[in-house]
Amino acid sequence: MPIKNRFAEMQAEIADWRQDFHAHPEILFETHRTSGIVAEKLAEFGCDEIVTGIGRTGVVGVIKGRKDSAGKVVGLRADMDALPIHEETGVDYASQTDGAMHACGHDGHTAMLLGAAKYLAETRNFDGTVVLIFQPAEEGGGGGKEMCDDGMMERFGIQEVYGMHNWPGQPVGQFAIRPGPFFAATDVWEVAFEGKGGHAAKPNDTVDTTVMAAQAVVALQTIVARNADPIEQLVVSCTSFETSSTAFNVIPQGVVIKGTTRTLSGEMRDLAQERITQICEGIAATFGGTAKVEYTRNYPAMVNHETQTEFAAKVAEDVSGGCDDAPLVMGGEDFAFMLEERPGAYILVGNGDTAAVHHPKYNFNDDAIPAGCSWWAEIAEQRMPLA
Ligand SMILES: [Zn+2]
Ligand SMILES: [Zn+2]
Repeated sequence: MPIKNRFAEMQAEIADWRQDFHAHPEILFETHRTSGIVAEKLAEFGCDEIVTGIGRTGVVGVIKGRKDSAGKVVGLRADMDALPIHEETGVDYASQTDGAMHACGHDGHTAMLLGAAKYLAETRNFDGTVVLIFQPAEEGGGGGKEMCDDGMMERFGIQEVYGMHNWPGQPVGQFAIRPGPFFAATDVWEVAFEGKGGHAAKPNDTVDTTVMAAQAVVALQTIVARNADPIEQLVVSCTSFETSSTAFNVIPQGVVIKGTTRTLSGEMRDLAQERITQICEGIAATFGGTAKVEYTRNYPAMVNHETQTEFAAKVAEDVSGGCDDAPLVMGGEDFAFMLEERPGAYILVGNGDTAAVHHPKYNFNDDAIPAGCSWWAEIAEQRMPLA
């Protein structure tokens, strides 16, 4: 029976798991319940090895194929964490935790990889080893990096690694991918302007940090408009502006602005950091104050490897009869760390015409389950065919 038909049969069961995860969202590394269920199910399916506590609350399951003559090891990765958002979907399995919600569909990712695990453990139609990676803290916590830092790749001998994300706006179950840079590096920065506070009626006795910081916010726009090569992609967004006073009649001693930069290349990343620092320090000095810039490099750009991308697209075509060219995404993806350690590819699977991810009305589309699970299973079977 074609794998997709098999997963169409399993869809209701997998959707049940998904909706249970949905009702019990857990944020960042706090995925204790989810990780527990994942480990329990992997044991129930008959995985050969299950290891918990990798990258704090991460779980790894190992399924050995019928033979291991080729010695191949393929890693398949899903994320498990939710977001600090108050759910507004109105579904009967909506979040039971106030202020937490599966608004990025990681409930679906976890359930789909579990579905594939069940099938792969039952059938073992491959010659090699599948390593199932369930990671916490994709949404800003760097859970994927923590799993790598715990030596996951070496410990399980992972040679290639694959990831998947649902994609609202893309037809249900239809895949999209691109080789090379795909998701952006997501750096954050904070600038503390220091001047001289005082009475708002005597501005001449002060060094006004609100004027300084306001000029800086406007000048930061020139990094994209005037400094960056127009062919390149770069986002510089100032997202917070806080003064040390809330009074009508006080010129604040200090202002802190915060923001993020998104880049797809090392050159743009260096340029953004350098120019943010120069602009803020220069403007502060011009107005008689100082600026202290703290620039933090978070997730690197996620770069798909050529060979594995071609393979992943071919598998997607086999599953769904086609594979679209994905757009560049200026959001970040923690899978970037795994793709820095091993060759691999990350693919998008259509979630249909739903609210966007991170929106309170977003919901994972259970109709994507047969295609998503089939892609996972076919990746294992086609990459490690029986001899
Ligand atoms: Zn997300
Ligand atoms: Zn996500």
